[in-house]
Amino acid sequence: MPQGDFALRAARVWTMREDGGLIEKPLEDGLVLGKGGLITAVGAYAQLKNAAQADIHDLEEAELCPELVNAHAHLGLSHIPADELILGQGFAIWVQSLVDRLRAPVDEHEVSNAVEAAVAGLAQAGTGLVAEVGGRYLEHVWAALQRNQMGARVFLEALGFGPPGLVMTTPDEWPLPVPDSAWPSVASAGHALYSTNPKTLQRAKAWSTARGLPFSLHLAEDPGETEMLMHGTGPLVEYYRRMGVLPSDYRPPGMRPVAYAHSLGLLDHRTLAVHGVTVSDQDIELLAASGVTVVLCPRSNATIGVGRAPCEKYLRTGVPVALATDGLCSASDLNVLAELRYWLERLEVELPAAQALAAITRTPARALAGSNQANAGMLIPGAPARLTVLSA
Ligand SMILES: [Zn+2]
Repeated sequence: MPQGDFALRAARVWTMREDGGLIEKPLEDGLVLGKGGLITAVGAYAQLKNAAQADIHDLEEAELCPELVNAHAHLGLSHIPADELILGQGFAIWVQSLVDRLRAPVDEHEVSNAVEAAVAGLAQAGTGLVAEVGGRYLEHVWAALQRNQMGARVFLEALGFGPPGLVMTTPDEWPLPVPDSAWPSVASAGHALYSTNPKTLQRAKAWSTARGLPFSLHLAEDPGETEMLMHGTGPLVEYYRRMGVLPSDYRPPGMRPVAYAHSLGLLDHRTLAVHGVTVSDQDIELLAASGVTVVLCPRSNATIGVGRAPCEKYLRTGVPVALATDGLCSASDLNVLAELRYWLERLEVELPAAQALAAITRTPARALAGSNQANAGMLIPGAPARLTVLSA
């Protein structure tokens, strides 16, 4: 992020400003001026060049866009690569192999090195902001984020069937040290409807709501989640019973995931609903009306074998869609541009380039911002000078 006066000329400048409900096309031969960490002017080079207070740095054929955002990762699990887990057979089998690995002894140096490599990979891929979800090994994660000057929203995640008070519910109750410098980035998350007490999820959501902060929830990832919530049966229930973690008095709500999350008050414009694979048309309507941002992780879904999200329907209904890689436990890398390419290759509708780029810039930036960051994810005067250079 440039700090002093700066002037950047590029073949194309993606402002990501909205114009009549669509993201506007990029400026050809554009110039971005800034000062003190903020953008002061954006326009055509020919019109704006005399206003530049700094030497104009010409990026030539490269393009400028708001910083790339990876809206869902698990950096604290980077020491467990996907190819060491059971893939392609659905969520319950994958998560079982993950939990087995989590229970094995681990060398802290190995964790720290893996986290460092993961964050360096994010930076190399042009990412400026990552949503870190979980809270494991936060000291290593935070140190690596700082070293790589990576922006972050850190979601400390409530997880477990125990009632509030028995399991960690809100960031204030986080049992592990949270570095002081990390606190401004902290928000609350709930793991998922199939893994966590509904009252715990509501308390976690309330914590972020009270502070104007975003909330993250894994939602509708796998058919087993729907079966568990609808009928109290299926591979997830069998797994939890074997593990002894499902309360003996567990009663399924008899609702699909989206409807259940909605009934608990977990879905609104500050919620990131992650995955959104197993959704009905009615669920999509509900998601659209609630204002949530759906975070799609198409490569992770394919790797684990949970199915494919109905992306075309989300786009048609106007649900804000962000793309993310998920963590290295289910993704080969944390490169959101690679995620976008993978997604677009499989998308069955044409998407204007600016709308596509919004899924890894403006849409997740706004979803992850606090209530006082209205300019997030755009290159407009007054917005933070957080930019990514895309090579041609
Ligand atoms: Zn996740």
